Amino acid sequence: MILIDGKKAAAELRAELKEEVAELKSKHNKVPGLTVILIGDLTPSQIYVRNKEKSANEVGLKSEVIKYPDSIEEKTVLEKIQELNSDETVSGILVQLPLPKHIDKQKVIEAIHPSKDVDGFHPMNVGNLSSGYESSIPCTPLGCYLLIKKIEPNLSGKKAVVVGRSNLNGKPMTQLLLKENCTVTITHSKTKDLKAECLEADIIVAAVGIPELVRGDWVKKDAIVIDVGINKTDNGIVGDVHFDEVSKNAKALTPVPGGVGPMTIACLLKNTIDCFKRSQI
Ligand code: NAP
Repeated sequence: MILIDGKKAAAELRAELKEEVAELKSKHNKVPGLTVILIGDLTPSQIYVRNKEKSANEVGLKSEVIKYPDSIEEKTVLEKIQELNSDETVSGILVQLPLPKHIDKQKVIEAIHPSKDVDGFHPMNVGNLSSGYESSIPCTPLGCYLLIKKIEPNLSGKKAVVVGRSNLNGKPMTQLLLKENCTVTITHSKTKDLKAECLEADIIVAAVGIPELVRGDWVKKDAIVIDVGINKTDNGIVGDVHFDEVSKNAKALTPVPGGVGPMTIACLLKNTIDCFKRSQI
C-alpha cells in the first residue's frame, strides 16, 4: 500500500511555488500578495491564519493579516473588501471562516471580486468550475486532486465515489473528478447503501466529519482512498476512513493527520499565485 505523504507533497509544491514567485518577481518587478481578514479570537482560526501567513512568507508572497474584533460591523468588513478589491498589490483575499453570527457569510463571499477569490467560494468561481472553465478552486479539494494525480495521472474512465456534498469539499471535488473524465457518484447522508456505492469505486474521497465511517470491507482491492476528515476523538485526531482496516485493501491511502491537511495551505498559495498571473495578462 502506498502511504500518500501529504507533508512531503505540500513541501514539494511550496518549493515549486517559491521558484515561480522568484520568476514572477524578476519578470514583473512585483510579487503576488495575499490578504487574510480574521474576525474574532477563535483559537483554531488564529492558528490557521498564522500558518497561512507563515507559509505565504516562506514562498515569498507579500502577505498581510487584517484583524477585527468579534463586534466589528458587517458594513466595515464589506467596505474593507471593496478597498482590497481595487488594491493592485493584493492578488488574493481570504476571509477566515467561521464568521460571527451577525455577519452574513454569503454577502462577504460575494463581496470578494471573483478574480481575487483565493478560496474559490464566489458563485462565479463555483459556476466556472462546474462549467469546466478556468476558476479558483477550493483549496482542500484541489489538494486532494493533486494527491490523486500523483498516484494515478490518467483518471479517465475511473469510477469515483465522493462521500459528502458540502460546497467546501464534496461538490468541488466531484467537479474536478468529472473534468478528469471519471464517472462520479456523489453520496450524502440520505444515500441508501453507502457501502455498496463505495465498493464500486476505484477512487474514494471521504469528506464527511464522521470518525472512521469508511470501513475496510467498503473498499475494493487497489482503490485510491483520500481521507479529508479531521475528527477529534478520545483517541486523538482521526479521519473519516478507518485507516488500519482500509490500508489492508487500498492501493493508496492518505493518513490523518499528514495527508490532505498540509496540501490545503499549499493550494491557497497556488491559488494566490494563479490569481496574480491571471491579473497580469
Ligand atoms: P460538512 O459541511 O459538515 O458536510 C458533510 C457532508 O457529509 C454532508 O454533505 C453530509 O450529507 C454528509 N454526510 C453526513 N453524514 C453522512 C453519512 N452517514 N453518510 C454519508 N454522508 C454523510 O463537512 P465538510 O466541511 O465538507 O467537512 C468534512 C470533514 O472534512 C470534516 O471532518 C472537516 O473537519 C474536514 N475538513 C478537512 C479539511 C482539511 O484541510 N483536511 C478542510 C475542510 C474540512 P448531507 O448533505 O445530506 O447533510
